[in-house]
Amino acid sequence: QAKTLGRGRHHFFDVGLRERMQRRLRMEQDLRDAVHDGQLWPAYQPVVDLRTGEMVAVEALLRWTHPRHGAISPVEFIPLAEESDLINVIGKEMLRATTRELAARRGSQGLDLTLKVNLSTRQLDDPHLVPAVRDALAGTGLPAGALCLEVTESALMRDQEAAAEVLASLRSLGVLLAIDDFGTGYSSLAQLRRLTLDTLKIDRSFITGIAESRDAAAIVTSIIAMAHAVDLTVIAEGVESAEQVDLLRSLGCDQAQGYHLGRPVPAAELFGPQ
Ligand code: C2E
Ligand code: MG
Ligand code: MG
Ligand code: MG
Repeated sequence: QAKTLGRGRHHFFDVGLRERMQRRLRMEQDLRDAVHDGQLWPAYQPVVDLRTGEMVAVEALLRWTHPRHGAISPVEFIPLAEESDLINVIGKEMLRATTRELAARRGSQGLDLTLKVNLSTRQLDDPHLVPAVRDALAGTGLPAGALCLEVTESALMRDQEAAAEVLASLRSLGVLLAIDDFGTGYSSLAQLRRLTLDTLKIDRSFITGIAESRDAAAIVTSIIAMAHAVDLTVIAEGVESAEQVDLLRSLGCDQAQGYHLGRPVPAAELFGPQ
């Protein structure tokens, strides 16, 4: 009987594994189709200045509307794209589309917002990244200083020498640089300083408990102090309540982003019809 059970379990495992692999292969093919069929699009989430309450920037967040499966989260498909060359194609198109959108809004509505675009580790390794950023700016007329590229702390810490070099090239174009999801990696003050960044985004996991937990608030307080010591603008991400907004303001946090202040939405919803 034990043997039967064992065999059953073995068989069961194989089916699960095969299904997972098939699902992945299918999703990768779907993602390739999505790129060509225009199923990928940027949502925009406001970033608010905590002193004035005004929207000062927008973060572009990739969205995939699958014709049959509906919305698929970037948390699911970005890692898949990163395993192939797809992330570079998608990343470049994201840069092109969002700089075009923001440049147009600038021209027609006089909107003076910073555009934030996420870069993945794989994009930092791509020799075509810097020319692609330069072309996106030149092609749309968006001022370099109105573009801020976000790189996660873990991507920056993976290969520090290489990352520092790419960031220096990007910086020489005049764009701003942000360290994203800060607190989830292990960077030191010295490393932060050497990378010459402009902005530090405190990871959502540190913001979640600040209104309830003194420890959580203490950690955020020290991150803000550290960031300000090396002249970084601090953004809190994942702000979901008015209490968190008030507390972050009182702690001297510069800007905030989160569902309480505005969800990621299509351009027309945030800026009005083009
Ligand atoms: P991220 O860059 O840290 O973006 C913030 C994420 O937090 C977004 O998730 C956003 O929708 C979500 N968020 C914002 N406010 C709140 C809040 O108040 N509560 C909660 N629970 N979540 C909030 P999203 O859009 O699912 O994106 C997830 C991640 O996928 C991003 O994290 C980023 O790392 C990656 N990603 C998104 N778009 C791109 C892209 O165009 N290129 C690359 N390379 N990565 C992207
Ligand atoms: Mg980001
Ligand atoms: Mg983040
Ligand atoms: Mg995050």
